[in-house]
Amino acid sequence: MNNASRVPICFTFVARSAQMLSVFSLVGILIASCLMSVAILGSLIRSAVPGVRRWCAGYGLLAAAAVWIMLGGSGPNAIEILGVTFATLSAVVLLVQGTREFSGTRPVRRDELAAAIVIYVLLVYFTCVSPNANVRGVLISVALIYGRIAVGALALRHASRDATRYAGRLVAGAAWLGALVYIVRIVAIVIGVVPQLTFLEPSLWNVMFLGLAIVTLPCMSVGMVMLAHDQILQKMEMLATFDELTGALTRRAFMTKANVLCAHALKKGLPLSIAILDIDRFKAVNDSFGHAVGDRLLAHVSSVVSGQLRSCDLFGRLGGEEFAIVFADAEMSDATVLTNALRLAVERSSADVARCTLSGGVGGFTAGDTLESAMVRADTALYAAKAAGRNRVVMTSDDDENVVRDVKESC
Ligand code: GH3
Ligand code: MG
Ligand code: MG
Repeated sequence: MNNASRVPICFTFVARSAQMLSVFSLVGILIASCLMSVAILGSLIRSAVPGVRRWCAGYGLLAAAAVWIMLGGSGPNAIEILGVTFATLSAVVLLVQGTREFSGTRPVRRDELAAAIVIYVLLVYFTCVSPNANVRGVLISVALIYGRIAVGALALRHASRDATRYAGRLVAGAAWLGALVYIVRIVAIVIGVVPQLTFLEPSLWNVMFLGLAIVTLPCMSVGMVMLAHDQILQKMEMLATFDELTGALTRRAFMTKANVLCAHALKKGLPLSIAILDIDRFKAVNDSFGHAVGDRLLAHVSSVVSGQLRSCDLFGRLGGEEFAIVFADAEMSDATVLTNALRLAVERSSADVARCTLSGGVGGFTAGDTLESAMVRADTALYAAKAAGRNRVVMTSDDDENVVRDVKESC
């Protein structure tokens, strides 16, 4: 069989299939898929991911538009036509706004709303005053093309990280495929290939448009769900890694990263030291000025300390008003000097919030140590600093772990 005869056969096959397929059943599938998207996106509303509410409402309106198409049958009246077009236009606006909100930009744009209103006024005109299904088809297609291109572009731009790239591409691919179909639809209407458009006529065009909507709309919503999940995951990762109040590493993240640094130091034979810092008489700050001031002071101390550390150092909040530092590539004496500089910086700057001082204990990490054993020694030194009157840094002695050296004056 030659190529020339293959093309018409394929075309006839598709045309026959189109006739065989009930357009009603396709619209039914479309409604079901939109409602499924509503259910899945709706399950994410509690997670407070920005944009999900609008996505959910957008898909709900698309389902409503499809239900209205069904109710209108093959000869819809003006109210049914206006209902379908209003629901579709609103859905487009909501899906674009939702994607914008998700990507962290202001969701509502006045020019977009104005354009939607103009299109709707024109739709009313070409329904009630000068009925013309083709002009309505072009107008609604233009809105759908804009919506799909905008959703795809926003999703792709937002999903720049490796983890989200696939989801962004899925949303963009599905949205742009849909846009392409509507462009074809407009061209077909303009050059007169498509006869007068009706919603439920079992024509090849209607089946093709509906079929592609059935494929692309759920793909878009699956991509949106994946984007939302990724954002939830990122948020959880952030919460697990960084202390919300102080921005320092959480205890768990600190211990994990500190273990890696210790292993590296042991392997390379590099010195490494650990300091534990504790705000002096912090309870009195809370009692005198209230917890809100106490919180601000914690954040202040953390920002002063982290601002002075070298990029290779590790800083975490162990809990309450206690912090820890791993000084990479630093002998205990160097770490003690650095810790004392931090103590002085906090003492000088804390008056902005509430005057406070720090005590610190420094211990070296030596062969045979674990992170925990080194931290116990640093903690012992910290207790010694407290016992010696606070506002000082103490380092463990090289020759005797239990003997500590007060370095307040020496640094
Ligand atoms: P010391 O000099 O011996 O360390 O005395 P301290 O008062 O600093 O130590 P203590 O352990 O008696 O009190 C620590 C206080 O820190 C008690 C607790 O209410 C407070 N605290 C712990 N976490 C937070 C927090 O996140 N915010 C605020 N505002 N206070 C906290
Ligand atoms: Mg304290
Ligand atoms: Mg404490």
